[in-house]
Amino acid sequence: MTRRRIAGALAAVTVALVLAGCATGGAPGAAGSTHPPRSASPSPSSPSSVAVPSASQPATTSGSAPTTAAAPRSTTDPPPPAPPAAGAPVIVIDPGHSVTVGGTDPATGLNVADYENEPEMRDVFDVALLVRQQLTAAGYRVILTKTSVEAPTNLGTRARIANDAHAALALSIHDQAGSNGGIGFTAGNNIVYYQAVGDYRINPAGTKITFTDAAVASLSQRYAQVFQRQRAAAQGTAVRLQGNTGYDLGGRGLQAGDIWIVQLLARVPWVYNEAGGNSAGMVGLSTADKQRYADGLVAAVEACVPISR
Ligand SMILES: [Zn+2]
Repeated sequence: MTRRRIAGALAAVTVALVLAGCATGGAPGAAGSTHPPRSASPSPSSPSSVAVPSASQPATTSGSAPTTAAAPRSTTDPPPPAPPAAGAPVIVIDPGHSVTVGGTDPATGLNVADYENEPEMRDVFDVALLVRQQLTAAGYRVILTKTSVEAPTNLGTRARIANDAHAALALSIHDQAGSNGGIGFTAGNNIVYYQAVGDYRINPAGTKITFTDAAVASLSQRYAQVFQRQRAAAQGTAVRLQGNTGYDLGGRGLQAGDIWIVQLLARVPWVYNEAGGNSAGMVGLSTADKQRYADGLVAAVEACVPISR
């Protein structure tokens, strides 16, 4: 991306987003593929270090535009939400996966491509709609990171939507479904991930991008503990709590590191949820299990960010 100074940052970001919308990314989108797919690994050598910019600690990045300018909304953004109740917290719901979409985050150089994974993509979108319905009814201002199940929405756009909205809390919803490699909804993969200082990914240029915002990390961890409890109660399963992925994602053909891209780019507390994806006797989630997953997420949001009544 062309180097620009602050005066040109807005235009630079716009250019990058336009390119992101039509570029092919590093993540293949074959339906029914295992999650995540294999793709070219950046295989960096002796990466340099860059901290993710945060509101309290602006970071310099190598060869990238300043990030102090507000990023413009793209055509994939959701429409403005309905007027919220006075003081209503903003909750961003991030249903996992997109039809194949590329992109590079202009501030960090991270590949923010996303890929389709079925039936996960459709199932977790249904769960997101259930969560939105219940939170909206409870008085929250809710923003989805995707306008529709097939809206092409890369990982950078998802993070930006939550950052621009100054969300009190963002939550990603994923599961592990499929006829091959799928996990039973009650059998495992029920995990809640929070952001922790020191979590990182390595961009395709070999630069290490580290999560550094201690205040957000502290909130993220506290909220994730609530998600763990509430999801376990609603789903009737054990749920694990993790401050990183627990292994190097580079081993799965993704950018090396140990935090999900949306959490790394977020400047707000972001709780990333995984679950089993196959209900008993089927591939994908049943209506009842979608509701169980949603109920746990809703209860967690209401406990993390209580709304004044
Ligand atoms: Zn997923």
